[in-house]
Amino acid sequence: MKLTADYHTHTTYSDGKNSAAENAVAAEKAGLAEIAITEHGYSHIFRGIARKETEAWLGEVRAADKLSRVRVLTGIESNIRGISGACDLTEKDFENFDVYLAGIHIVIRYEHPSDRRIGWGGWFRRTFHVKPSASFVRDVTRAYIRAIENNPIDIITHLNYQTFADAAEVAKCCADYGTYLEISSKKPHLSDDELAACVNTGVRFVVNSDAHSVDRIGDTKLAEEAIARAGVPLDRIDNIDGRFPKFRFAEYKKHM
Ligand SMILES: [Zn+2]
Ligand SMILES: [Zn+2]
Repeated sequence: MKLTADYHTHTTYSDGKNSAAENAVAAEKAGLAEIAITEHGYSHIFRGIARKETEAWLGEVRAADKLSRVRVLTGIESNIRGISGACDLTEKDFENFDVYLAGIHIVIRYEHPSDRRIGWGGWFRRTFHVKPSASFVRDVTRAYIRAIENNPIDIITHLNYQTFADAAEVAKCCADYGTYLEISSKKPHLSDDELAACVNTGVRFVVNSDAHSVDRIGDTKLAEEAIARAGVPLDRIDNIDGRFPKFRFAEYKKHM
């Protein structure tokens, strides 16, 4: 399996170590045709890109695109902020981004104080090996599903990393809405059984590095191991072997 494009990389504008230009050069060296620069979204405390930095960031990403032979896209790893599925991009922000990723992170400004349970509640249960209750899983699943229904999200990042959703339910929703499920090579996030159950829904996948430094751009090792163990057919992954995904966000913006 050869990666065509890496749609999840960070720079110093969030918690990455390098610049967009350095990420692009690394992507070129890794033989990629395309890369997205995807900082943490606006409601991420400490690690998110600030709204007021967005213009400078855009300038750097566009310059990186010109500098290298790799196509460099602007993207965001938005935060799912509550059970309502609210994310931290408004329609006004849409013009700044080519690719729309979203995931659950912990240290964020939640929509309502009670929404802390989808992030902190998951973190607590994962850290202290507490079995999640059915109602907890239902709430987290609902947050993911409503996010996908109400926002033109291209990729759900690291599903179930530090939280507990019904992965197959989320994957089914992704399949219905044309949202991709990420298989991350940064950290384990779905069990083999969960990933196999996702495959059965017909969802399509992308493999991403979630690189926070140039040495990991285009890295697929951990994802390849998970793919082999869970038996994900390679033809269900749309950013490998010369293929490119068909993203719903770009389509959505054409009709705005
Ligand atoms: Zn993330
Ligand atoms: Zn990330």
